Amino acid sequence: MPPVGAFYMQQIRSFKKFIETPKKVVITTHYKPDADALGSSLGLAGYLLKKGHDVKVISPTDYPDFLNWMEGEKEVINYEAGNKRKSKKLIDEADVIFCLDFNSLARINNMGEIVRRSPAVKVLIDHHLEPERFADFEFWDTGAAATAEIIYEIIKKLGDRELIDQPIAECLYAGIMTDTGQFKHPNTTKNVHIVTAELMALGADVSKVGRLIYDNNSLDRLKFTGYALSHKLNVLKDLRTAYFWISAEDLKKYNSKTGDTEGLVNYALSLKGIVLAAIIIERPEVVRISLRSKGDFSVNDFARDHFNGGGHNNAAGGVSDLSLEETVKKFEEVVKKYEKQLNKHFKETM
Ligand code: 5GP
Ligand code: MN
Repeated sequence: MPPVGAFYMQQIRSFKKFIETPKKVVITTHYKPDADALGSSLGLAGYLLKKGHDVKVISPTDYPDFLNWMEGEKEVINYEAGNKRKSKKLIDEADVIFCLDFNSLARINNMGEIVRRSPAVKVLIDHHLEPERFADFEFWDTGAAATAEIIYEIIKKLGDRELIDQPIAECLYAGIMTDTGQFKHPNTTKNVHIVTAELMALGADVSKVGRLIYDNNSLDRLKFTGYALSHKLNVLKDLRTAYFWISAEDLKKYNSKTGDTEGLVNYALSLKGIVLAAIIIERPEVVRISLRSKGDFSVNDFARDHFNGGGHNNAAGGVSDLSLEETVKKFEEVVKKYEKQLNKHFKETM
């Protein structure tokens, strides 16, 4: 295996040779896939199908309804929803397993150990920090804004750019648009715009994709957002921190569906003078925390050090096995230790 961080294109030649002949392919991505996770998976699936491979996309869990316009979505196998045996068989018998948009096998829940034990060749394609070393091919680039951007680059380096049609281009565009926060986060590089322009040239209707993802709210979701903003947002002014805390009861009251809390944390980050934003949610088995920051304050480190998680410098997440109340208390205690840093970062980012 090459050292972590080795520029992934060095592997393209041997990968090209490997993928030349038809293979039984499984593509998987992290639990509760977002637009980049599912978009990069279905974009890659569309391409590999055109190359004559037998391709199955397996998601560890369900995903938001606002992603079900993606081509190939109807064929996605939801592991958790009654497909455990079928998924295990596919993973055991695959020639190659693509692991997209996640850096640790724990991110695919119970499927992680099945993938680890499978004799298939494993290909990691990801842009998160500090990946676990389990793959035979690693296309890993933390400089990429989205896994979808890496998929585009790989297809291009394989000499197959013209195989990207409108549905594939739109899946990939969705990943880039959402992971850059609509081209606003610091990961929005010149290359992001170049790749976006190329995807447009290949047929992506960017306005349509934007509408499908962002203008597709249920009334429940909007009302829930209003409720959370009015009643569940706490601001720790001296610590330049704002966080939401959401109980299982809150979710039930607003008939919350997968994806309904996605993006809420950004309202906390949008507050003037805030450097660190969080949302702490009571899920059925565990309390989850989602973190965002401005500037150089690393929520990847914060999530790793205190919430058994990780991600990127400005967007990360983790878990807590304490109760919701105890997790909120822990969060408030931990943040106090960063008072100086948070204030320093504020001055630097403004
Ligand atoms: P989100 O807050 O949108 O769920 O996640 C933000 C970023 O952190 C995403 O890139 C996501 O993949 C990553 N992330 C979220 N939760 C976890 C976690 O528990 N562990 C790790 N390693 N990464 C996470
Ligand atoms: Mn991503």
